[in-house]
Amino acid sequence: MKKRVAIIGAGPAGLMAAEVLSQSDYEVHVYEQKPSAARKFLMAGKTGLNISHAEPVAQFIGRYDQAEWLEPWVRQWDAVWIQNWMKDLGIESYIGSSGRVFPIEMKAAPLLRAWLKRLQQQGVQFHYRHQCLELNAAALTVKDLVSEQLAVQHFDAIVLACGALSWSKLGSDGAWQQWLAKDEIEAFQASNAGVERQWSTFMQPVFGQPLKRVEAWVDDQAKTMGDIVISYYGLESGLIYKQGRALREQVKNGQTMQLYLDLLPDQTIAQLAQKLQPSKKQSLSNVWRKAGLDTAKASLVRELVAKALWNDPLALAQKVKHLLIPFSGFRPIEEAISCAGGIKREVLTEQLQLRSNPRVFCCGEMLDWDAPTGGYLLTACFATGRAAAEGVQNYLSAQE
Ligand SMILES: Cc1cc2nc3c(=O)[nH]c(=O)nc-3n(C[C@H](O)[C@H](O)[C@H](O)COP(=O)(O)OP(=O)(O)OC[C@H]3O[C@@H](n4cnc5c(N)ncnc54)[C@H](O)[C@@H]3O)c2cc1C
Repeated sequence: MKKRVAIIGAGPAGLMAAEVLSQSDYEVHVYEQKPSAARKFLMAGKTGLNISHAEPVAQFIGRYDQAEWLEPWVRQWDAVWIQNWMKDLGIESYIGSSGRVFPIEMKAAPLLRAWLKRLQQQGVQFHYRHQCLELNAAALTVKDLVSEQLAVQHFDAIVLACGALSWSKLGSDGAWQQWLAKDEIEAFQASNAGVERQWSTFMQPVFGQPLKRVEAWVDDQAKTMGDIVISYYGLESGLIYKQGRALREQVKNGQTMQLYLDLLPDQTIAQLAQKLQPSKKQSLSNVWRKAGLDTAKASLVRELVAKALWNDPLALAQKVKHLLIPFSGFRPIEEAISCAGGIKREVLTEQLQLRSNPRVFCCGEMLDWDAPTGGYLLTACFATGRAAAEGVQNYLSAQE
């Protein structure tokens, strides 16, 4: 009789596990509580599916907070591997000027369609609208959400690919956490999320406006450059996401969450101070604008720098290039692009097998790793999906 393997979750990690497992002589069942597969993956494709990144692999691996853990898998199934894999599915890709890898059509849907078709041809059995409610050893209690019927199914191995907590309407609701002991999971936190700050009413006219080409950093950490959007709730952008790990560290250490900005990184303090000299012929706003402070940047300076310094060119220049912004926290986890936290590395073997339940393997965003946006999230979901599936193959062949 064929060995039976269940995969819970038809997101990118679960589908990649299914791809590997369906190449062995197993009966592979994918349970997905939503009516269709990979809803978050499709959402990721809405603004252009950034599936990986073509930077040198050492730099690439350094983007993860659990670099050492993920390295063997991400090296093996890197951006080049992903591009070839897509090509094999009939989807051409390209590398953008920033090194980001996208399918040429940008969307996720054509890739997903081709992928699901191939998985079905390889014999994977999909059970949509089927929610796994309980996990006991190798038995799953599954609810058919249409008929409301419950069934207990037994498997030789189970892959958990249930995702983390954000955007729960797309399926990843975190209910799986009850299947594990509390100390097996690092508490989830919002990642790749905006930061919150209560602005004064003077900031309202610049809500939605970008702070262009600024540098951001946390304490003595590395600076990153890019744009930031001023929002009614605080600040948002990929540049903020890149500082997320350092911001979370501040909270963990009991410090106030705060970020430094250099609003005009192309000018030295001396150059800027020269331009910020008050003039009898020009208004302060004009002087600031000519010095490079557009409306959004000038509003932020007015909001955060004491008025007493506005006519002191050197002190003002120093502030513009070293502007401290405290925040009250991150946006809610529900809105975050991804989550930090998840199943801890030490409760898993090197095969991503749960030490407390050797028939269960875990992959994707439900594991305790994190990375900024830029294709790193999907790359690690694919890679851990494959690694968990190989773990299952090794485990099952050792049983023979
Ligand atoms: C708006 C947005 C944009 C993004 N853009 C990018 C991007 O451009 N590049 C990038 O790299 N990443 C991006 N991401 C992140 C990326 O989509 C996720 O990291 C990835 O989808 C996680 O994959 P996963 O398979 O681990 O989990 P998920 O994709 O969350 O899939 C988990 C699946 O498990 C199912 N499930 C959960 N519990 C059960 C249960 N009990 N029974 C049955 N089924 C269950 C869920 O319904 C879900 O379908 C984006 C995310 C968002 C929200």
